[in-house]
Amino acid sequence: MQFHDSMISLVGNTPLVRLNHVTHGIGATVLAKVEYFNPGGSVKDRIALRMIEAAEKSGELRPGGTIVEPTSGNTGVGLAIVAQQKGYKCIFVCPDKVSLDKINVLRAYGAEVVVCPTAVDPEHPDSYYNVSDRLVRETPGAWKPDQYSNPNNPLSHYESTGPELWEQTEGKITHFVTGVGTGGTISGTGRYLKDVSDGRVRVIGADPEGSVYSGGSGRPYLVEGVGEDFWPTAYDRTVADEIVPVSDKDSFQMTRRLAKEEGLLVGGSCGMAVVAALRVAERLSEDDVVVVLLPDSGRGYLSKIFNDEWMADYGFLEDAGPSARVGAVL
Ligand code: PMP
Repeated sequence: MQFHDSMISLVGNTPLVRLNHVTHGIGATVLAKVEYFNPGGSVKDRIALRMIEAAEKSGELRPGGTIVEPTSGNTGVGLAIVAQQKGYKCIFVCPDKVSLDKINVLRAYGAEVVVCPTAVDPEHPDSYYNVSDRLVRETPGAWKPDQYSNPNNPLSHYESTGPELWEQTEGKITHFVTGVGTGGTISGTGRYLKDVSDGRVRVIGADPEGSVYSGGSGRPYLVEGVGEDFWPTAYDRTVADEIVPVSDKDSFQMTRRLAKEEGLLVGGSCGMAVVAALRVAERLSEDDVVVVLLPDSGRGYLSKIFNDEWMADYGFLEDAGPSARVGAVL
């Protein structure tokens, strides 16, 4: 019989798919690591599993314990799936700007979600950060993974994403491009690829214009899951050879093209990473193999990136070309 013990054993080992259309005019091979094939639909399943297993080993998370984390998105889904399979409770804290759809997904997996007001100072007792800290203090058996500072976040990529890419490309990868949020993906995968190739593989971060990684101050941008207004300890500043800033408009137009031209319905940070990957690939030759990591699926963004009115309201459809309009007949 062929079966998996549980959804947990499906985490990782995601496919690499060549990009064939958005790469028009580019000689280098550009391959996408499609992370929505993980059971929770994103790259974050990898860190959820590793952080939970490490906390079990260290004794920080004990049978019947409760995982408390301020997260509204992909990390929450990964934690919720691993937690339910292992018998832990989850409480997630979200700001009230998070869409009801995202909150309902977390609740569907059995997590409790506490919603906090966005319009209060970080010091206010009801703020996102204070509420999660209080829940950790007041909940018996509580453990907070803290993906921004947990070393098992980058380590999960050092031990899974990096080796997978090296094997899948038979050591031919020359460039690795990924978005930077907590910094876990770039730090762990990038470090592994540098170690295994004696420093030959170039590592490139993609960052929303305005975020600290590309020299900004944390100015607001709309692409979700990437960019920061502070430097997390999960981010190793010595790994990236280059950081490429990408605008919201370029990110979202590329996200739509990936769905229409490559059959890849992915999130906005994927479009952002592909824009950066193509900018890098343009200067390369046919011997180069560029891998770009696509963190999640486009299902969570249907009413934004894949909605013509939303895009038009922000001016993101200007100079977009016919294929960028979802409603357009080609
Ligand atoms: N894209 C999305 C949609 C994400 O949720 C994340 C994780 N915050 C990233 C990219 C960036 O990954 P990392 O946190 O490993 O830098």
